Amino acid sequence: MSFEHLRLAEPITRALKLKGYEQPTDVQKICIPEIFAGKDINAHAQTGTGKTAAFALPLIQKFNKYPPIAPKKVHALILVPTRELAVQVEQNIKFYSQFLSIKSAVIFGGQRVNAQSKQIAKGVHILVATIGRLLDMQKKGLIELDQVDHVVLDESDRMLEMGFQHDLEKLLKLIPAKRQTMMFSATNNPKVKELSYKWLKSAINVNSKEQNKVATNVEQYLHPVDADRKQDLLVKLIKDNDWSQLLIFVKSRAYADELSDYLYDREHGLGLRAASIHSDKTQSKRNDLLKKFKAGTIRILVATDVAARGLDIAELPAVINFDLPHIKEDYIHRIGRTGRADNKGVAISLVCSGEIDTLHRIEAMLELPIRRVPVPEFRPKVILGLSSIRNRKQLDFDKPLR
Ligand code: AMP
Repeated sequence: MSFEHLRLAEPITRALKLKGYEQPTDVQKICIPEIFAGKDINAHAQTGTGKTAAFALPLIQKFNKYPPIAPKKVHALILVPTRELAVQVEQNIKFYSQFLSIKSAVIFGGQRVNAQSKQIAKGVHILVATIGRLLDMQKKGLIELDQVDHVVLDESDRMLEMGFQHDLEKLLKLIPAKRQTMMFSATNNPKVKELSYKWLKSAINVNSKEQNKVATNVEQYLHPVDADRKQDLLVKLIKDNDWSQLLIFVKSRAYADELSDYLYDREHGLGLRAASIHSDKTQSKRNDLLKKFKAGTIRILVATDVAARGLDIAELPAVINFDLPHIKEDYIHRIGRTGRADNKGVAISLVCSGEIDTLHRIEAMLELPIRRVPVPEFRPKVILGLSSIRNRKQLDFDKPLR
């Protein structure tokens, strides 16, 4: 099936060709016709499936036929959990709509309200926003929501995990009831289900069987290792594999800085182009780092979970979980940074004995044991043990790395 079969207009398919998309992904094939038909959508689509284009393309096409917009008014609201994702989604929208006169803007906390309100002063078709900043600007009278007729809750599971349910309820009350609402989430949990009944009207369920699962083109395994030897093992992996780029997840901001300093340091460390990204850095610094990472100027990015979601880095070959995430769903979001679309990726976790419970929770969620690959000179003093889940056939304890 081609994008033309989905009845997308020529200026949009032209932009998609420029972006290198040859055919729609599964979630796009299902969602695009339903969104054109005006249906509410409840989609469980894992990261990397092309869900952004699945909602953005039909919206762009619809709005192309809209009359001119009035000052401060908005037609579609796309709510996202993080600033990084907001910027990225809006960049995609700008790219897809480059041959049309669609107006889009992005607002998020951490930057001056004034500059952001200027973008909306004349009105926009599509506004990508984080919820706090949106409510703030609405309260100040800088945005008017009475013409909103489309709402997308992107990564709604993540927004709920972050405690935004109350704010989302508040926002939905400010928007006309006659609207099309679309919820996208990577994981399917009971809260998402409950709120989808409340917020959506006879919604189409786009239920990927792969929910709560990682993309199949990501090869996952773990190296059992003692906590105090993780850094040495990481250095070995970096030296042995020579990945063109690498994203490393750690649990604390302080360690993100310490590790990236070590990787960067020419004298005492590895002398690599490394940097850290976490919530202690200012928004403009974070944007700048992401830009450099995407451009390849930064080779290794050490991140806390703030960066886990929504980073759209093409062809990232590897992700390393230096520490396992506290929230099990973050495992999926983290490793969704690699193996996106048709690219192969590898996700390696360094797991110490203190993380066994977390590991078991992650494996239970995945319904799959993660392959243990011992590295001979790093065998831990404390043995990690078997996976708690039943399907043990797939375990591969005896196959050393080399
Ligand atoms: P998303 O799930 O929206 O974060 O998209 C994941 C990645 O897939 C992004 O890098 C998109 O640019 C890319 N992508 C989206 N749709 C397609 C498509 N139809 N063909 C190839 N790549 C795509």
